[in-house]
Amino acid sequence: MTLTELSSILRECGVVGAGGAGFPSYAKLNEKADTVILNCAECEPLLKLHRQVMAKYAHEILRALHEVACAVGADNMIVAIKPTYHTAISAIEAELPSYDDKHARIGFLPSTFPAGDEVIVVYETTGRIVPPGKLPIAAGCIVYNVETMLNAYYAIKERRPVTHKYCTVTGAVKHPVTLRLPIGMKVSEVLSLAGGATIPDYAIVDGGPMMGKLTTENDVVTKTSNAYIVLPTSHYVVQKKKVHSPVAVNRAKSVCCHCNMCTSLCSRHLLGYPIDPSKFMTALSAGATGDIKPYINTFFCSGCGLCEMYSCFQDLNARSLIAVFKGGIRKGGVKMPPAEAAPVDPLRREKMVAHTRLTARLNLTQYNQEALLDERVIEPDILTITLSQHIGAPAVPCVKEGDRVTAGQEIAGIPDDALGVPIHSPLAGSVIGVSDKAIRIKKGENKR
Ligand code: SF4
Ligand code: SF4
Repeated sequence: MTLTELSSILRECGVVGAGGAGFPSYAKLNEKADTVILNCAECEPLLKLHRQVMAKYAHEILRALHEVACAVGADNMIVAIKPTYHTAISAIEAELPSYDDKHARIGFLPSTFPAGDEVIVVYETTGRIVPPGKLPIAAGCIVYNVETMLNAYYAIKERRPVTHKYCTVTGAVKHPVTLRLPIGMKVSEVLSLAGGATIPDYAIVDGGPMMGKLTTENDVVTKTSNAYIVLPTSHYVVQKKKVHSPVAVNRAKSVCCHCNMCTSLCSRHLLGYPIDPSKFMTALSAGATGDIKPYINTFFCSGCGLCEMYSCFQDLNARSLIAVFKGGIRKGGVKMPPAEAAPVDPLRREKMVAHTRLTARLNLTQYNQEALLDERVIEPDILTITLSQHIGAPAVPCVKEGDRVTAGQEIAGIPDDALGVPIHSPLAGSVIGVSDKAIRIKKGENKR
């Protein structure tokens, strides 16, 4: 299959990064790549879906990765995974000999956070540094995650569009579980499938405890949802996500002691990136403008959250303030400056944060449960499918109220010249509402 053919299949079938920002997968294909990497790091505490999906669908996932490698002309296929994912590793090892036309191998990642950051995955598995502000292709690599490649497999083989998302439902729920959910399903219904919350006063984190955000039961599943974690409202993780920026600035002014710990452990700083959260906090709390570098270099923050969730003993909010500041200067038209990476910190290995230690520090050890994969068919009565689910242009509805749709039918398209992908209905039914934000579908028999 040519790169052009693969690109159009991935686009038409709505394949995007299954997690994170959800970058459209076709847009990553590039003939400059000599290496394709499958990211099975899953470094957020409590999340289990990637290793489970990998263990079950290693054949399909590696077929798709190989298809990508052939289409872009890459010689190397690497599966980036942690050595503790034994079942998934056995499944991969059984498949790898089929790909002797490539240099196909496992690349072990350290059991640290954030091992799944693409920049870190590239460094750990190839020794290459992605230049600051650039994508992995600048280091000759394309990185896809496990579920993205499973979706690509079905798109290539059956032209099956992306309509569902694997999510781990865990925390204070009766039956922690990993489910395959239709996009557009309400979070309240998702929690019911895990037996509901076991505590009366709870909050829900959409995504991992480090990089996820607080959500509500009225929110819905998207192509980038990865987990729903139920925690007491008083829990450390929940409280850290309720940042009020003016208060956070005042707290920084009062108690930031410039100890430098946030910079010392910063995952991107350790790789030589110019982000320096300690200098940023110092400049911000002093209102200093003589040197703008600490502000401009916020562009090189990955948002991993180590600085505010783990490193700072004063409980300050460097990551959140950096995000607010970066958003503000971007809006004001400031562009990312050119930058080169400094040498990797010689003590990087020693400074990396162990996954188990992070889980304990976040007070999540008690919630680190099995959450087994359960692929029962789930068909809610009503789905609310949002038109903007990931990075890129929002999709444009191509159905109207009263229309009947089939499972897998395109319900929102994307202009030819825009970065984005169409959206397809997860089930057969009737369109009961269309707005500029979402399409609502009611499950039902489709007689067409
Ligand atoms: S770790 Fe906390 S106290 Fe220390 S420099 Fe960073 S923000 Fe300030
Ligand atoms: S969130 Fe904090 S630790 Fe992570 S890259 Fe940004 S500044 Fe560094």
